[in-house]
Amino acid sequence: LMLDIPTYLLSLNESQRDAALSDTFKPLLILAGPGSGKTSTMVARLLTLLKEGVNAKNILAMTFTTAAASEMRERVGALVGSAVSKELSISTFHSFCLQLCRLHAEKLGRSADFLVYGNGQQKRAVIEATRLALAENISDSTAMASDLNNAEHPKCEANNLIKNPNPIAWKDKARKWQQFVTHCKSAGRTPQEIENSGNLIGAAVLRHYEETLAACDALDYHDLISFSVTLLNKHHEVLEECQKSWTCLLVDEFQDTSAMQYKLLQLLAKSRLTVVGDDDQSIFSFNGANSCGFDWFRKDFLEHKEVRLHQNYRSTRCIVEAASCLIRNNLNRCQTKQPFTANAPGDRIVLRECRNEDAQCAFVVDTIYTNVSSVTTDKPAFGEIAVLYRRQITGRLFQSVFRARKIPFNVHGVAFYRKKVIKYVIALLWSSLAKCDDIYCKRAIKALYAGDKAEIKKVVEYVEKLANSMKCPFLQAARNIFTAKISGTFSRRQLCQGKKVITSIDMVQRLVKKRTVFQTRAIVDENGGKLLNEDDDPRSILQYLLDDVRGFLCNRSNTEMASTSEVELSKPDEGCISSIQAFLDYVSARESENFRSMREENKNSVTLTTMHQSKGLEWDTVFIVKANEFETPLLHETMGSVDEGSTSLEEERRLFYVAMTRARKKLLIVYVTVNPQRQVLQPSRFLKELPRHLLDVQGSIFLPESSGTCLPLEGRNSTNMNFNSDPITTLITKNPDSQSDEENVAQPMQNMSRLEGVASNNAADPWASPNME
Ligand code: ATP
Ligand code: MG
Repeated sequence: LMLDIPTYLLSLNESQRDAALSDTFKPLLILAGPGSGKTSTMVARLLTLLKEGVNAKNILAMTFTTAAASEMRERVGALVGSAVSKELSISTFHSFCLQLCRLHAEKLGRSADFLVYGNGQQKRAVIEATRLALAENISDSTAMASDLNNAEHPKCEANNLIKNPNPIAWKDKARKWQQFVTHCKSAGRTPQEIENSGNLIGAAVLRHYEETLAACDALDYHDLISFSVTLLNKHHEVLEECQKSWTCLLVDEFQDTSAMQYKLLQLLAKSRLTVVGDDDQSIFSFNGANSCGFDWFRKDFLEHKEVRLHQNYRSTRCIVEAASCLIRNNLNRCQTKQPFTANAPGDRIVLRECRNEDAQCAFVVDTIYTNVSSVTTDKPAFGEIAVLYRRQITGRLFQSVFRARKIPFNVHGVAFYRKKVIKYVIALLWSSLAKCDDIYCKRAIKALYAGDKAEIKKVVEYVEKLANSMKCPFLQAARNIFTAKISGTFSRRQLCQGKKVITSIDMVQRLVKKRTVFQTRAIVDENGGKLLNEDDDPRSILQYLLDDVRGFLCNRSNTEMASTSEVELSKPDEGCISSIQAFLDYVSARESENFRSMREENKNSVTLTTMHQSKGLEWDTVFIVKANEFETPLLHETMGSVDEGSTSLEEERRLFYVAMTRARKKLLIVYVTVNPQRQVLQPSRFLKELPRHLLDVQGSIFLPESSGTCLPLEGRNSTNMNFNSDPITTLITKNPDSQSDEENVAQPMQNMSRLEGVASNNAADPWASPNME
């Protein structure tokens, strides 16, 4: 390898270089704050390994997102050439495990093309399992009686559920049970263990859940990890093969490693292990991650070396100082860090009050336009801006306003795949797989059958009944009803409708077998007319999906992990089926994991994303919007209390800290004062934890009267707003809060968000309602 005075080391500071060059046979832990160059140092470490003669094929780097993976590959490629960088395995935990599980599926009791369940499917399976478990256990009245006083106990929950079959309550309980299942899975607890601890219903739910997945030839997202661990534990030859394949391991964002993922690392890693992370940025505890990983690492790898980095290279001094002030309010911190930066002080952080969400959008849009037009370099100006929010739902309004105001944007995250029309197309794709599960057939019928809700419900229930009595899959029962002569209760029109649905599903199946997935559009155009009027601009959404599919299929060969199993597994004429399979895996991944959009190529776009998904990334200008109480920190029944010192409040604070530290130069935080129902909203408590002298306050947050009540709405029209000399705000000529009605394109969307705000729709909430039924 031709690397003389290693150029890649030149840009590093002393402690970074020390870390990058330290004995590669000694496990290394880099623990440092945001923007201190952890990821950069990890890349340098990877280059050191290459320089020492390690074959690129033997290096496995775990990153947090697929985007981070391709960025890392690019950076390494720039220095050593793409031929070498292509050989590297750079992957997320989940895609690494997905590949491993597919390769050894038969050892796990699955077929090689098993389904991967995303959140929506997992939730349905949990509901099903809960129903079965309750039916089994509820008669066990003696077991019940002893626990009835314990409101938290699952048995008591069960009792309440039976007494209270209302669907909202079910939704809530389903979320709890899903959390329970997730918890058991990430902790590696078996039904037997749960049963031994006296929780009979819990054990039954878990058992039924596992049976359901086995019967459907499916794995959920946690299974991918835990099945991989089981595989490596049970099959020594596989473990040896893996250890031989990957002799060097590097893990970024180590603080978000769950217990199961850690077990996997322990199995794979012999000694050449590098982990980098920041305990203050641990924000995935709902996914089973906890920053205990650092303690385990220290205990398990006694010989390790530990490096701290203190200098922040990313952000202005103002941002670095304000962020570290905020995080100091967390009591449970492993160690205090003393971050500093040699960067300029920069502009003060704008703290902007807006009357409502429309005014908030207007402020962001106007500021973006001013900002972009003041940029003279040929840097992709829109691409250097991000809008971060706590919940996906907040991003919706921005999407429609951005579209109307012609601001190019990329949406990261799952919101797109939650759109109704997209779900239906996905349902169709699922239903086209030979081993379609009932959930998706039902969904496809709901999507394609033209009729009112009550009629569709009746049809689905009827087919369900028949499927149960015939003990056959849902699709087969539907086929029997609509295409054979078991007509029963249906009118001629209904039969005709049903037949059309079956024909569509068959057509997709044929297309999938023969041609490409792009043809799906024809089906939607033909049959899904009713869907296409329901969503905002559904045709462009469909186009987006098709682009995504196309991009996915094209990229697949050169993105992470694609080089092996998936492609090789598919025989030539099954190529398309395997592509669809892979695409649906990808969709499931996006539904449940932290995968970023494939549309990364559009660099000159504003990024709209959740705080969670912003991790590890950076932009010149960052807006944090809807910085209100009940938003950030988000109050959520299942998250426990948000009292001072509670772990969930601290996690919310870490999340806000992650969001703040994404900004290089400008940070603008916006909060709103009333919601669409005209209820008064309070600014986030985190804002009051920021040092006043670093803020450019544009609102009444620190006025005494703002603490309890809100000024009357009219009084909010802050015409004498005090803009400072910051170029980003001085150029705003009109008061962004006074927006004319015709500009107010967001109104219809807003009603939607009002409705959907009820169902928990946040990114951090992996069991958030997919709003399908
Ligand atoms: P996070 O915790 O947010 O993931 P990080 O610690 O991984 O942050 P990086 O993303 O590696 O930080 O680096 C942050 C920024 O600082 C990047 O733009 C990087 O190029 C720059 N940087 C890192 N080290 C140096 C250095 N020694 N000199 C100049 N710039 C640096
Ligand atoms: Mg990083």
